[in-house]
Amino acid sequence: MIVVMNQGATKEDIERVVDKLTQLGFRVHLSEGVERTIIGVIGDERQLAGASLEVLPGVEKVMPILQPYKLASKGFKEEPTVVDVGGLKIGGGHFQVMAGPCAVESREQILEVAEKVKAAGATILRGGAYKPRTSPYSFQGLEEEGLKILAEARERTGLKIVTEVVDPRTVELVCRYADILQIGARNMQNFFLLKEVAKVDKPVILKRGLSATYEEWLMAAEYIMSGGNYNVILCERGIRTFETHTRNTLDLTAVPVIHSLSHLPVIVDPSHGTGKWQLVHPMAVAAVAAGADGLLIEVHPNPAEAMSDGPQSLTPENFARLMEDVRNIAQVMGRKIGTLQ
Ligand code: PEP
Ligand code: MN
Repeated sequence: MIVVMNQGATKEDIERVVDKLTQLGFRVHLSEGVERTIIGVIGDERQLAGASLEVLPGVEKVMPILQPYKLASKGFKEEPTVVDVGGLKIGGGHFQVMAGPCAVESREQILEVAEKVKAAGATILRGGAYKPRTSPYSFQGLEEEGLKILAEARERTGLKIVTEVVDPRTVELVCRYADILQIGARNMQNFFLLKEVAKVDKPVILKRGLSATYEEWLMAAEYIMSGGNYNVILCERGIRTFETHTRNTLDLTAVPVIHSLSHLPVIVDPSHGTGKWQLVHPMAVAAVAAGADGLLIEVHPNPAEAMSDGPQSLTPENFARLMEDVRNIAQVMGRKIGTLQ
């Protein structure tokens, strides 16, 4: 069960509820968010019989929630969450396309790709400055220099920036440059990292872990939300299966399933989901038809020379073709594709 305090609840209001619950023998967990405080109640709920917490000052609602994820659940909030990224909306019918290379490799590469993905209709530029690579000998990213290059591209184009954060110690640094933080698939259950991004005032894209169930994924979102950050965007990026033809198996079923379980927006990354550039276009279009709230697509000016994920990267020309079909399908599906003002 959780007790949701209203936005105007005072410290005394919160203390009163906590005291009452403690007297009744419950343990409590306080989540002090930017907007409101949520009190998680642990213990035998039969002890509550007759104790009407709802009437206490500052209490908005008391919710028995059956799922292990509470704040991420439809039970907590029926209407879809619309995440606002500096005026760009994601969720609840609002759709954004995020595109750019796997990794920030150079200033020239990013400035070129930024202009091209913008011209094709993307609103958010992606690019990793910290790369979680399978091999320690692979390119690990340009780190802060990469973040500065992304910020320069934003200055020049007006595109927003999404970039991955891999370490709790660099969350503050990445926040100085990024508009959206990305938690990668490998870190979906890095709970210490999740608790750090929970404390910041930036939206978070939470990628599905390589072998995570929907429930595990929503529990990871719960970590971020219970720590106070409600602006979570889930990203389906393919899971590990027995199939080896593709890099991962893109589970588009996740889109309608997560929409039925949660109010959070769900976007799709067909680049990591398939690992092959030829499959990105059909799966991107399918993701829109399945009801996704956005796309995350890898685009490189010269995929053959890419320092990471070249085989799944689109050329800017192929990305422009993909955008045409995405626009067509989005129109049929009644979704608004975001544009830069
Ligand atoms: C990426 O977006 O470049 C990335 C590393 O993705 P994932 O965490 O889904 O593998
Ligand atoms: Mn990549």
